[in-house]
Amino acid sequence: MRKKIVAGNWKMNTTKPDGVELAKAVAAGASKVPAGVGLIVAPPFTHLCAVGKALAGSGVELSAQNCADHEKGAYTGEVSVDMLKAVGCQWTILGHSERRQYYGETDEKLVEKVRLALAGGLGVILCVGENLEEREAGKHFDVCSAQVKNVLYNFTAEDMKKVVIAYEPVWAIGTGKTATAEQAEEIHAHIRKVLADKFGAEVADDTTILYGGSCKPSNAKELFAQPDIDGGLIGGAALKADDFIQIALSF
Ligand code: PEP
Repeated sequence: MRKKIVAGNWKMNTTKPDGVELAKAVAAGASKVPAGVGLIVAPPFTHLCAVGKALAGSGVELSAQNCADHEKGAYTGEVSVDMLKAVGCQWTILGHSERRQYYGETDEKLVEKVRLALAGGLGVILCVGENLEEREAGKHFDVCSAQVKNVLYNFTAEDMKKVVIAYEPVWAIGTGKTATAEQAEEIHAHIRKVLADKFGAEVADDTTILYGGSCKPSNAKELFAQPDIDGGLIGGAALKADDFIQIALSF
């Protein structure tokens, strides 16, 4: 049975004191969330350590928002997988559309990042999704399959045990526009088929696929009721502990 997950991507929000306060509130709310639902938060690099301490004993897991595509060395400004592990990270988000769009993150670079993350013992939340132009041109299925294939087809069924996929239509991120439950479900089912083609039905069935894009307490229930939607990657609503916990209670 694949795991249900609600993950909060804090992006470049919160200072360390704000982040610790938010983490404490999430940790307190986590006791209301059923054991079968995994909670993850992804604060900025600067307060991973402090947030990790604030989450201790709550069962909420810690994620980075990105990692370097090199193991170590002369890469100014980058943060390696080993560094993330050493501050208590269990996960890293990779391939978020903001990284693809603003920082030139290519599928080729992502292959390297996923390889390093998995080798270093981090779970990966790999983001895929089409932009508005691609959706309007009817290319959304092809764009998502290509992103999944270009990155994940380089890995094994065993590797896939540590990979979660987040389908995030770029036109729905931070815009208040949510994909309808039907629009989201058809892409999730499609991604699962793309996984089955390479890794077999069992791996596809066991892979957690999250929806992301203006998911909030008012729409989470309908989205999470879809058979192939296993939870959410939450941006804006993850900055309010009550909303984040409410979303996690929406299964
Ligand atoms: C995101 O960027 O991962 C995201 C889903 O953001 P929001 O929930 O704010 O649309």
